[in-house]
Amino acid sequence: MKAFGYAARSADSPLTPFALERRAPRAEDVAIDILFCGVCHSDIHTARNEWGGGTQYPCVPGHEIIGRVSAVGGDVTKFKVGDLVGVGCLVDSCRRCRSCDDGLEQYCDHGFTLTYGSEDKVGGTPHQTTLGGYSDKITVAERFVLRIPDTLDPAAAAPLLCAGITTYSPLKRWKVGPGQKVGVIGLGGLGHMGVKFAHAMGAHVVMITTSPEKGRDARKLGADEVLISKDAEAMKSAASSFDFLLNTIPVGHDTDPYMNLLKRDGTMVIVGAVEKLTNVSGVPFIIRRRSMAGSLIGGLPETQEMLDFCGAHAIVCDIETIAMEEINKAYDRTVEGDVKYRFVIDMATLGRPAAVAP
Ligand code: NAP
Ligand code: ZN
Ligand code: ZN
Repeated sequence: MKAFGYAARSADSPLTPFALERRAPRAEDVAIDILFCGVCHSDIHTARNEWGGGTQYPCVPGHEIIGRVSAVGGDVTKFKVGDLVGVGCLVDSCRRCRSCDDGLEQYCDHGFTLTYGSEDKVGGTPHQTTLGGYSDKITVAERFVLRIPDTLDPAAAAPLLCAGITTYSPLKRWKVGPGQKVGVIGLGGLGHMGVKFAHAMGAHVVMITTSPEKGRDARKLGADEVLISKDAEAMKSAASSFDFLLNTIPVGHDTDPYMNLLKRDGTMVIVGAVEKLTNVSGVPFIIRRRSMAGSLIGGLPETQEMLDFCGAHAIVCDIETIAMEEINKAYDRTVEGDVKYRFVIDMATLGRPAAVAP
């Protein structure tokens, strides 16, 4: 099926119009007309080849996809034409290892297929690498398609598919709830969802930010307190007071000042930084038996649970909707921290120029 989108052709070129193809639905597939796609900081890391690996170009980013089902294969049972659906970071996995059996496809032992930038193991198109949601159509196996509650605004629901599940999953795993003091570090796309979820789960939530001007917003999102991480005195008085920290900082950083905020047996979960964490010394771990852990997105069952939780609690993301052609400016603004709190591309603006580069 002919499709159309925007692609990066190299690490330092802007995203530009791109003609692509999607496979016709196989028996287990759902074909989706994309309505909205969120702009995750990971899209930028990949488009600009910042993961230290080799981004395959052309690269069509986008893994916060909301759309309507346009066709289904003969074996599809959960979806029908017209349903509002979502696709997140994964479009396939081995489906037979222990993690896949447990519904933790993001930890698949044999390698998952990311929505963009992975080897396309199904094929059926000229593309050897999967291409993401900055496009008008996508075809995805039913297991990797999610139901979107009708009550949620479709544009504002898009970032739930990555920013939502990435923050919901560790909060659930570490059993965040009433009576706990929880810090969310970094008020960006992930962080603003972390605050909303931790608040909805009943915790006492502290927004830990480098940006004092974001403080008022953080309270509106559900934070009970704001801690400015550049204020050494404030950090010192908050030492050893947190049960749990969710760290969304997108770059390598000195973790000691944050670790020192944890109480005895507290845990800090890193979801942002894939770069080296500098100056990690043993002392903050040892003296209060603290832990540091990591967490990757979420599996399909938990992602559906998170979407249903959002339906029940009327939780969506705070977004700025953009036209597709504004994507390069949106990337720069995201890197500068100048977005409240997620850009979402309205795919109705995609247009279809008469001639686009293949
Ligand atoms: P984002 O919207 O750019 O937000 C990141 C926030 O971190 C910024 O708004 C800023 O908040 C803070 N920050 C930025 N640079 C900082 C620095 N040098 N020191 C301290 N704080 C800093 O990014 P995002 O989309 O939320 O993504 C965050 C990270 O998570 C990215 O690296 C992304 O690739 C990653 N990610 C991971 C997963 C996963 O499964 N683990 C999934 C999705 C994304 P303040 O202004 O409040 O300080
Ligand atoms: Zn993402
Ligand atoms: Zn597997």
